Amino acid sequence: MGERIEYRDGRWVVPNHPIIPFIEGDGTGPDIWRAARRVFDAVVEQVSRGTRRIDWLEVLAGEKAFKQVGNWLPDATLDAIRTHRVAIKGPLTTPVGGGIRSLNVTLRQVLDLYACIRPVRYFEGVPSPMREPQKLDVVIFRENIEDVYSGIEYRAGSSEADAVIGFLTERFGAKIRPGSAIGIKPMSKFGSQRLVAKAIEYALRAGRRSVTLVHKGNIMKFTEGGFREWGYEIARERFGEKTIPEADAGTGKGDGGRVVMKDRITDAMFAQLVLRPDEYSVIAAPNLNGDLLSDAAAAQVGGLGLAPGGNVGDGYAVFEATHGTAPKYAGQDKVNPGSVILSGAMMFEELGWNDVATAITRGLGGAIRARRVTYDLARLLPGATEVSTSAFAECIIEHV
Ligand code: NAD
Repeated sequence: MGERIEYRDGRWVVPNHPIIPFIEGDGTGPDIWRAARRVFDAVVEQVSRGTRRIDWLEVLAGEKAFKQVGNWLPDATLDAIRTHRVAIKGPLTTPVGGGIRSLNVTLRQVLDLYACIRPVRYFEGVPSPMREPQKLDVVIFRENIEDVYSGIEYRAGSSEADAVIGFLTERFGAKIRPGSAIGIKPMSKFGSQRLVAKAIEYALRAGRRSVTLVHKGNIMKFTEGGFREWGYEIARERFGEKTIPEADAGTGKGDGGRVVMKDRITDAMFAQLVLRPDEYSVIAAPNLNGDLLSDAAAAQVGGLGLAPGGNVGDGYAVFEATHGTAPKYAGQDKVNPGSVILSGAMMFEELGWNDVATAITRGLGGAIRARRVTYDLARLLPGATEVSTSAFAECIIEHV
């Protein structure tokens, strides 16, 4: 019998047989989930010599939920994730035609999953547009709740937009073209600091050398500029002994093993990741910057096909593949399970099972180096053998 994962004093308390809810996903979801679960169970068993085991708990969402219980996102699913705190999901169909809650948005709001975490690293052998893709190895912490993504937006010509324009014009003399659409960009000290703190805590835990705040504070002085200022402030006040600002680290004093706090303007950061990727390690960014940067960085190491993701709050976390359902290959045992498998590795790392996380990543790297890969990679890799989703999973296990 499995036990619940708990969260006490800011730490996960993970039993040897944790219950972890999973959402299989739509389209190719069942194919990749079957393969991923096989890898997770085999690696946990092998690494812990049988002392640890996951008690997987299926929860419904998407098409399967709609077919079985007539609801795309049953309350029972949200309750189970809230109870068990950590979950993993495959991709879900976004039904066209509105009126349906998006699982990701709902989970993010209900569980306050304020950090979207996207590790980006290179796997030897994967075709990349860069000459030295292996130099990029970053973990991006993107604020998930605030900024222009908070959903406060008014259509051009609407009474709401006109009222906001009227207010800003009359009260503050703002110059806004009449009839404009309006979006609001709220960014708080609270929201910014808890995100930056999470990034710093991760850097300390994972032995990473720096945290870079990415902002457009030269133009948006109070929102993005605030992010920068509040980020440095929390580093100084809460992690003063363990961090050092880049300006001080460069004065010959050395960083003394401390995490170096840097900041970069967003546009410069895009250039830096291409030109000097090895100078960056952990990145903390507001919502929009982080969104753009995550996919651009993933493209540098060979695309989104292998990119994992996690949405993490305080005491709750949901991990997922970053791709969609690839419906035309559903049921064919054909697509690449790598993204969900690496999301699982992230989940185990978050829970402190670093041995499992490392072994999964090692196995995946080995399978790619052996060039026994699914069709998406096989067609790009010279001399590769195309294997099925399930055979790729076996190959990963062999290379652990
Ligand atoms: P998609 O990611 O499903 O497909 C884009 C392309 O990538 C396709 O050519 C597909 O065959 C390929 N692809 C995707 N995953 C792959 C894998 N694991 N291995 C090999 N090839 C893979 O995106 P889409 O076609 O825009 O969306 C399809 C459905 O997925 C839509 O309903 C969309 O709303 C949904 N979606 C869900 C999520 C999510 O749940 N996180 C994310 C994106 C899209």
